[in-house]
Amino acid sequence: MGEKIFDCLVLGGGPAGMSAALYAKRGNIDVAIIDITTLGGQPVNYLEIENYLGFPLIEGWELSEKFEEHINKFNIQKFTNEEIQNVDLVSDIKTIKTLNNTFRAKTVIVATGAKAAKLGIKGEIEFRGKGVSYCAVCDGAFYRDKEIVVIGGGNAAVEEGMYLTKFAKKVYIMHRRNELRADKIVQKRAFENKKIEFIFDSIPLEINGGNKVEKLIYKNVKTDEIKELNIQGVFPYIGFSPNVEFFNGQIVQDEKGFIRVDENMRTSEVGVFAAGDVRKTPLRQVITAVSDGAVAGMSAVKYLEEVEMLAKEGVLEA
Ligand SMILES: Cc1cc2nc3c(=O)[nH]c(=O)nc-3n(C[C@H](O)[C@H](O)[C@H](O)COP(=O)(O)OP(=O)(O)OC[C@H]3O[C@@H](n4cnc5c(N)ncnc54)[C@H](O)[C@@H]3O)c2cc1C
Repeated sequence: MGEKIFDCLVLGGGPAGMSAALYAKRGNIDVAIIDITTLGGQPVNYLEIENYLGFPLIEGWELSEKFEEHINKFNIQKFTNEEIQNVDLVSDIKTIKTLNNTFRAKTVIVATGAKAAKLGIKGEIEFRGKGVSYCAVCDGAFYRDKEIVVIGGGNAAVEEGMYLTKFAKKVYIMHRRNELRADKIVQKRAFENKKIEFIFDSIPLEINGGNKVEKLIYKNVKTDEIKELNIQGVFPYIGFSPNVEFFNGQIVQDEKGFIRVDENMRTSEVGVFAAGDVRKTPLRQVITAVSDGAVAGMSAVKYLEEVEMLAKEGVLEA
């Protein structure tokens, strides 16, 4: 990209990134989005969204397309198929290196999302969207009166398991140890829930079925006994990990790597903001991602205005 210095570079073109770019551009700054693939983010990969306000039922790819059509009206530069390799977020002028290019900017908004940790067992990929889901809030309603199994023992697994009892006839929670990692108060609520049955000391081995999930094969790790569970849904909740491999710890993250931000989406580094699933947040959804993006975009604009004002007063270089 030669010597060009963007006002703002948005890393990741999912819902958070597109929203951030829109708000930044409407604040009259020069903004570009970089993404490893095309724009759209996670929604492109799953079927239906039922909880985005204003759209009672919309295909993920269709909502992403609407987001992109919207930002296209604002002449925002897009650099797709650019995998971010490493970055310098600490210097005044930030540098982003992809496989093919080097980009420089006064501000950066990190919106690279997160990925669900995978079980890595047979059937997991084949049955994704056909009984295997990583999002109870999104897909729970499809399991009305069905029997399902949640894999994991932390807060997310137990809380999502309880959420799923709103729809499912029965929810098994399978954990590899003999006690849960979830907070005691969360555990207490789950133990009191009549629809939940715990399967401890057990690990999943294989998911199988016909067109949809029908069974989970699992093993008791204490007795080595192999068993079967007749279920129609498998929800792995063994964790999410943020897409932050390229940072090298340049900004403050929590113990799982999620970026810590304040209410203005400011990170620990001046001029660096984060939005969406990549940040530490209580809810990872499209609606919260676009909300974060809006705040981050506006914060980048305000930050640049402040820098410019201080430069005019001779306190800083613009
Ligand atoms: C199976 C499933 C179903 C879901 N269903 C729903 C639902 O029904 N409703 C709902 O509201 N939410 C749902 N969600 C959650 C929702 O998809 C996310 O909360 C939302 O997409 C987060 O947006 P984001 O922009 O923060 O991240 P993402 O959507 O993950 O976008 C991140 C972007 O960053 C890019 N990127 C990542 N790493 C790099 C890199 N190194 N270099 C360049 N680019 C990079 C990615 O290509 C991607 O485009 C679901 C999630 C899953 C997994």
